[in-house]
Amino acid sequence: MKKKKKTTEAERVVFTKEMREMGYTILIPTMLPRHFEMIAKVAGAYGYRAEVLENTGPATIEKGLRYVHNDTCYPAQLIIGQFISALESGKYDPRRVALLFAQTGGGCRASNYISLLRKALKKAGYDYVPVISLNFAGLEKNPGFHISLPMLRRLVYAVLYGDLLMLLENQCRPYEVRAGETRALSDALTDRLAGQLGRKSRLSYREIRATYAEIVSAYAKIERRQEERLRVGIVGEIFVKFSPLANNSLEQFLIDEGAEPVVPGLLGFAQYCIYNAIVDTELYGRGKRFRPIFRFAHKFVLKKQNHLIEAVTQNSDFTPPAYFEMTRRLAAECIGLGVKMGEGWLLPGEMLDLIHSGVTNIVCTQPFGCLPNHIVGKGMMKPIREKHPEANIVAVDYDAGATVINQQNRIKLMLANGREIAAKKKEEASV
Ligand code: SF4
Repeated sequence: MKKKKKTTEAERVVFTKEMREMGYTILIPTMLPRHFEMIAKVAGAYGYRAEVLENTGPATIEKGLRYVHNDTCYPAQLIIGQFISALESGKYDPRRVALLFAQTGGGCRASNYISLLRKALKKAGYDYVPVISLNFAGLEKNPGFHISLPMLRRLVYAVLYGDLLMLLENQCRPYEVRAGETRALSDALTDRLAGQLGRKSRLSYREIRATYAEIVSAYAKIERRQEERLRVGIVGEIFVKFSPLANNSLEQFLIDEGAEPVVPGLLGFAQYCIYNAIVDTELYGRGKRFRPIFRFAHKFVLKKQNHLIEAVTQNSDFTPPAYFEMTRRLAAECIGLGVKMGEGWLLPGEMLDLIHSGVTNIVCTQPFGCLPNHIVGKGMMKPIREKHPEANIVAVDYDAGATVINQQNRIKLMLANGREIAAKKKEEASV
């Protein structure tokens, strides 16, 4: 079999130091708007001009379908579609932009999306646009783009802030007495936090922790109705789980249907990636010499997560996020931790975590044809249901050809089932 050739620097457009100094705008595809807004500001604090794309809608999907084969993963179609339509929009000078694309470095196709993007750029006449790979696996390098340790630390804070806003917003918005109050607070806080993370001066961890407490207290002041709603967990492939563009605004749909969405945060995925690096050293001896670094990173993020959980429990009656170590332990009871293609063991781990915390109704979002996540998502439902008969899980496929009505009908059926189970439980308890 012919060995696949690695793309060399001579074959790709490299993002150079000169491009950075010339003020090229780095375009970032959207996934979690609040998180990414803050991430862009962190990049700004370290000398990069970055902007999160806001173009969404059917035109974006159409562009993706035009330039990417429809057998390719749905997230790749959406991200590439978003990039190409942004370049064609006239809003940017294509000769002064670079595109930032994440490469997971795992065995899945996500590591190769970047070559699909380059192919699409060539087809659309933008082959001169540099593509920057965002990866921590030593894959492609660009002399004009480097994430230093202090920048990495601030990026972790941006993820923590983003997760905190998402967590509290989801616990307030379905119950708010004054419509729109939670959204307005989240928007104001996103601006404030982005400003804090984007400043050039030193940012101490003490200040970050004090800000956590302020954020929690601000949400706790929102007047909420005392009503019982079905709490519904959202798990799945990272892009369709989080991106409103990919999952047809699933959180909003659940709120409109009288439920409360419960979404495990982005930090969990980052922790899963770090922990997998440790597993690789144990199972395959891969990257053994970096093991102390992976362990340090793992402990560092765990500690930061604990502080965030403390801030929620000490300042409010909100439900805090799950401890990563708990998710990992629960996952290990039903799946090997070596299963790390796609979202791997994290996906059943998050389902189990939700069930243990009383959130037994779950939507498992999956791109159509995503083999790894069908195995660790849909494929794990039977063993999870055997252990937890109360679990009410529905798997929903997302792709350009799927109709929103079909997706919503499946979710509505799960909600009806969940309500029936809850009513029965109440009846049994009152006897
Ligand atoms: S996890 Fe699924 S959607 Fe993501 S790259 Fe792999 S196959 Fe594609």
